[in-house]
Amino acid sequence: MKRVLIGQFKHEGNGFNRNHTTLDAFEKQGIREGDEMLSFFRDVNLEPTGFIDVARQEGWEVLPTLSAFAPPGGPVDDASFEDICGRLIARAKAALPLDGVLLSLHGSMIVDSHPDAELVIVRRMREVVGPDVPIFVSLDPHCNISHEMAREVQGMVAFRTSPHVDQRKTGERTARMLAETFRRGTFPTCVLARKPMLVGFDGARTYHSYGPFLDAIRLAESFEADPDILRISINAGYSKTDSAVIGPSAAVTGFASEAKLREIAEIMMEECWKRREETAERIVSLDEAAEAIRAHRMGDRPLILGDYGDSPAGGAYGDGTALLRLLMDHGAENAVVAPLCDAEATRLAVEAGEGATLRIAIGGRADPDHGGGPVEAEWTVVRVSDGAFTFKGPYGTGTTGTFGKSALIRSGGVQVIVIGNQKGMFDQEQLRIFGIEPSETDFLVLKSMQGYRGDFQPIASVCLDVDSGGITSPDPFRFDWKNVPRPIWPLDAEITG
Ligand SMILES: [Zn+2]
Repeated sequence: MKRVLIGQFKHEGNGFNRNHTTLDAFEKQGIREGDEMLSFFRDVNLEPTGFIDVARQEGWEVLPTLSAFAPPGGPVDDASFEDICGRLIARAKAALPLDGVLLSLHGSMIVDSHPDAELVIVRRMREVVGPDVPIFVSLDPHCNISHEMAREVQGMVAFRTSPHVDQRKTGERTARMLAETFRRGTFPTCVLARKPMLVGFDGARTYHSYGPFLDAIRLAESFEADPDILRISINAGYSKTDSAVIGPSAAVTGFASEAKLREIAEIMMEECWKRREETAERIVSLDEAAEAIRAHRMGDRPLILGDYGDSPAGGAYGDGTALLRLLMDHGAENAVVAPLCDAEATRLAVEAGEGATLRIAIGGRADPDHGGGPVEAEWTVVRVSDGAFTFKGPYGTGTTGTFGKSALIRSGGVQVIVIGNQKGMFDQEQLRIFGIEPSETDFLVLKSMQGYRGDFQPIASVCLDVDSGGITSPDPFRFDWKNVPRPIWPLDAEITG
């Protein structure tokens, strides 16, 4: 019986966020070790579940190590990284001898001392298992992958949906590469191609039926029809890491010759380069958002404004007020902002209790220059909640999360969910716990880049993603880049692909 290690250590880092991501943030999500990992991942839409599915079908013995995940945020500090990685590696040592390793990673973790953190994780794993045990990794398409990383593993594959709804499927795809490796009795090769670009493949968008990323998937599938090509990982990259390894790449895993794999990887990246200016979703300005607010017919299905520039799921603070201000300036009725991440306002509202009225300033504290400063008004506390929710939509279906003690407050026609931690919006349940039926609102501001699309797009009259100026703004010229290699597109005009 093949002995297969599974593990997960994921974080998406935003190099412009001034706050560190610490052990505490991972612990809040639950670090699951050993058998605890097996019970947690039994039937959820996440990558290790897909690993376990294949292990069951193939009759492997699963050696669970550890799973750790924290919401996107600033860089992980060294001590927290060493703590978690240390536990993962210690469990790997204890699990020897092994026949294979399956790791669920993000690909955009930045650690103070390790700008390419996933490479460090994989190298330490390699030291434990030696050169003869294949290592396969699943990734988020918002990953920055180095050539060194591609050399260290036998194969990799990223999600093919954004918002990400194919986590379990991706885990399964990763594990299927291992199964094929066992069958053939020989290692595949993983070859990576890159271009000097900050972002590519249209940020992996798939919520429309068209666009560069969907075309890239079709192209990849045409190559994957060859049985000697296992998987192509289409990596869109994540620019907000502001790290030395950055931008899109394509990783081709297969048993074909290295020259053939390289040729395919280069073709994928040529496509990426050629279509670099194309997007399936234009991010709109605040002025255009204002126009849409004025054009909305009351009682129609909701106008959804995605706060693309201040998305906690992209590592932003989530306390930007540009869109809240826009709603209030327009005297919007039946409007909801979800959520505003402001621990102090949340504490005051929760303490005041339901029905209380208080004059406070909310939001805009972390970095008022990016995305709007505090908004002061008279707020009535409509609902206080423990903040716990279970995702019922297509994203992470069945998983649970919490805003922590939180409150719904109202000023005029605008209601705001204030929360004490940093959570993005993915699922309508996150509103229903406050007594709000999302489809019955007129205006919804959601702190999200695209994660909300899976569950919210079907109920909207219009979805607009707005550059509110926060630290997940799509405009690269708003940022003071410190670590990215130059020249790079689109910052430097001399880049010609
Ligand atoms: Zn992602």
